Amino acid sequence: MGDIEIVEVTHEYYNPHTRQLVRALEEVNLRVRDGEFVTVVGPSGCGKSTLLYLVAGLLQPTRGEIRVDGERVRGPGVDRGMVFQDVAVLPWRTVAQNIGHGLEIQGYPRGEREAIVAHYVQLCGLKGFEGKYPHELSGGMRQRVAVARTLAVKPKVVLMDEPFGALDAQTRITLGEELVRITMETGSTVVFVTHSVEEAVFLGDRVVVLSRRPGRVKGEFEVAVPRGARRYARMMESERTEALRRTILESIRAEVDRGEESLPPSAGRGGRGSLRWWKHRTLAVLVAIGLGAGVLEGWSAAAAPRKVVGEGFKRADASRLRIELVLPAEEYHIRFLRRWGVLEAVEGEVVVLRDVGRGGVERVSRLYWVRRVIVLE
Ligand code: ADP
Repeated sequence: MGDIEIVEVTHEYYNPHTRQLVRALEEVNLRVRDGEFVTVVGPSGCGKSTLLYLVAGLLQPTRGEIRVDGERVRGPGVDRGMVFQDVAVLPWRTVAQNIGHGLEIQGYPRGEREAIVAHYVQLCGLKGFEGKYPHELSGGMRQRVAVARTLAVKPKVVLMDEPFGALDAQTRITLGEELVRITMETGSTVVFVTHSVEEAVFLGDRVVVLSRRPGRVKGEFEVAVPRGARRYARMMESERTEALRRTILESIRAEVDRGEESLPPSAGRGGRGSLRWWKHRTLAVLVAIGLGAGVLEGWSAAAAPRKVVGEGFKRADASRLRIELVLPAEEYHIRFLRRWGVLEAVEGEVVVLRDVGRGGVERVSRLYWVRRVIVLE
């Protein structure tokens, strides 16, 4: 089972930069049936990722409720796995170790784990690559590993945030076809966010269009092509698919045309790189807690970032952190991070902070422009 009910969900963020609340989603109602593959599109900044994070339980809605199989989502859980665009695999683990990571955390005995890993290696087209490290793989293969790792713990729901967004067009198509086949086999419910209408129509049983921010469900479009018949070339040649694609595109364009406000609040004002700051979408709060000088892998689709922070919190008090941002550090980030500790070094996307005070680790790891936090000492 993997039936999702999103009921009257509104979500607001506090933006410390402007000291204002940003309403990302407003009264969203959406039902995703067990085993369904739903794609979500909408103008940039309309709350697509926010919606996924809410279902994942990484955020709590300001109002409304989300239920999976009738049970209210109160935090992350192993029943919901997530695949991101670029924070996918643990570089110090082989393909097989990455795929088995969630199972390991859940305490599966070795033999069983190996059998499951072998199954997903096969299913996701990774045969022969089991012993390779992520840096030895292409971007497309790395995303296969991320998908396999998420599926291996058999989540009821798979949440995908533009997982193929960083890949070239051909790889995207190949992986899309593979994903359709794989999810047919696993029967998982999928919610897939993308900014590509073509991809949304190609993959989804249903395409959900969100309005500009605050995002509401503006329209829902069934794609009447059975999953078994989804071949990219054939679908794109079909007049019916083309007409649907155009309708959806026009629907999104109308939202973007509804005025300047569709841009995030600080866009266009420039200064302090604010446009770039806003353009960077909420990425995963990926936290790897280090022990001693080493780095311990502390994250998997199955583990709750907030929980990991919670566990490492006391230990990490007054410690030295390596903070990896989703973009090269700007003055604003540095000023913000200085509140929580002493700046030791800044280089590109990496900031080292020491003497981090009480609560600092947790706070820093919640910033949406922070990709991951590694406790060095
Ligand atoms: P999308 O995925 O559709 O591009 P997001 O869900 O990433 O949109 O963001 C929706 C809106 O909420 C955007 O205007 C974004 O700038 C804002 N937002 C996202 N995360 C945060 C955050 N942590 N703090 C403040 N505002 C945020």
